[in-house]
Amino acid sequence: SYARTPMERLEPSRFWHTFSDMNKVSQGPKFIVERAEGPWLWDDNGDRFLDGTASLWYCNVGHGRTEIADAVYKQLTALDAFTVYGDFANRPALELSERLAAHAPVVDPRVILTCGGGESIETAAKLARRYWAAEGRPGKRHLISRTGGYHGLHGIGTGIIGMDRFRSGFGPMVEDASVVPHDSVRALEEEILRVGPENVAAFFAEPVIGAGGVYAADTDYFTGVAEVCRRHGVLFVVDSVICAFARMGNWFGIERYGVRPDMIVFAKGVTSGYQPLGGVVVGGRIAEPFWNRSGNPFHHGTTYAGHPTCCAAAMANMDILEREDLFTVAYEVEAQLDAAVRTLADHPLVSEVRSGTGVMAAVQLTEEALGDRGITTAEVFAEARARGVVLRAIPHSLLISPPLIITWEQIDHLVSTLRSALDAVAQRHE
Ligand code: PLP
Repeated sequence: SYARTPMERLEPSRFWHTFSDMNKVSQGPKFIVERAEGPWLWDDNGDRFLDGTASLWYCNVGHGRTEIADAVYKQLTALDAFTVYGDFANRPALELSERLAAHAPVVDPRVILTCGGGESIETAAKLARRYWAAEGRPGKRHLISRTGGYHGLHGIGTGIIGMDRFRSGFGPMVEDASVVPHDSVRALEEEILRVGPENVAAFFAEPVIGAGGVYAADTDYFTGVAEVCRRHGVLFVVDSVICAFARMGNWFGIERYGVRPDMIVFAKGVTSGYQPLGGVVVGGRIAEPFWNRSGNPFHHGTTYAGHPTCCAAAMANMDILEREDLFTVAYEVEAQLDAAVRTLADHPLVSEVRSGTGVMAAVQLTEEALGDRGITTAEVFAEARARGVVLRAIPHSLLISPPLIITWEQIDHLVSTLRSALDAVAQRHE
C-alpha cells in the first residue's frame, strides 16, 4: 500500500524519537499511528486503539475534526505566513488574542503567542525577570517551582523542572532556581524568605500537576499561594499547558481556585494539538513598563509566533469547545472517569488512584510491585496497548487523560482494559 512502501525503504529508521531510549526503540518495531477519529487511533496494520491520553494531554475535542482542518486550509491558501514583528500583524493572531484575553482570569490581559508550551515558559520566565529589571529591581531573578512540576524541556524549563531525571546531565541550566513541595503554601513562603524576596522573580505552578503524576492541590492552596506571592512581591505564573481549554471544565484551569495570577502559560488544548501553538496571557501590570514606556522593548520573540494557520486552528477549536459546551461535558466526564478509575484502588498492584479534578487520572503501583517484584509501568502500558488502549507510563504511575468527547462506555472499556493489563502483569510476576 501507499503507506507501506516508503516505510520499508526507511528501515532502519534515522528518526530520533524524543523523550525516548533510542537504544531500546531502535531495536524493536515502531508503533506507527496512521489515522485517528474521535477518541480512536488506527495503526499501520489497521488495528484500532482507544486514545486514553488525548495524545499528550491535548486532543481535547477529539481527533478528525474536519472543521479545524478546513479552517487551516482556508487560512493557508489566504495567507500562508508572514512573521509578526515590528508593526506587522495578521488577522487570526489579533482575533485569537482578543478571544483569549476575554476569557483569561488575568487583570487587564495581553497575549504573547508562541509555538508551544516550553517556548511559552521561556517567554514567561524571561518576562518576569525583565519586568523586575524594568522596575529597577534587577536582583529579582530567582525562579521557584514545585516538586513534580513539568514546564517543558527548553533551557529555563529544564532548569526549573521538578523531576530530577529531566535535569541530570546538562549542568545547571538556571543558576537562580529552586523547587518546593507541591502542596505547601508554608514551604513556598519559607523558600521566598530563605532566598530573600528581593531576589525572587516568580513562582511557577500547574493548576493540577500533570506529567509529574496528576497531583491536585487542596482547594485553598492557590488562594494561599496568590496571597504569599503578592505579599512578597513575587510574580505568580500559572502553567496551564495541560489544564486549560476545558480539561478542567473551564478556559484556563485556575478559575477553579478563584485566583488571578500575573501570567498564564498555555499551549496543547488551545488547538487540541491540530497545529503547534502556545502563549502567555500577561497581566496589565507586567505589560505596563513595556507598553507605556518608550525605549523599553522586551527583546524576545520567535519566527513563527502568531502563525496565522495555527491561530486559525485555535479559533476553530475554540468554536467547537463553545458550541458543544465541552466545559460542562468535561465536568461530567471528570465524574465518570473518577468513579470508574477508583474501582482500580482495590487491585493488588495499585497503591493509589489520583483523580477527580479535571479529566485526568493517575494509577500508581505499589512500592512492592515496583521494587521486589520488578514490575514496571511500561509493562502495564504494553499490556494495555496490546489490548487496544493507549495510556501513558511514568516511573510510578499510569496516566489517563482522554479526549473530552469520550463516552461512558469508552471510559468503562479503558478502565476494564487497564484492569486486565494489571492482572496479566501480576500473573507474569507471581
Ligand atoms: N508545561 C506543562 C505543564 C506541560 O505539560 C508541558 C508539556 O507536556 C509543557 C509545559 C511543555 O510544552 P511543550 O512540550 O509544548 O514544549
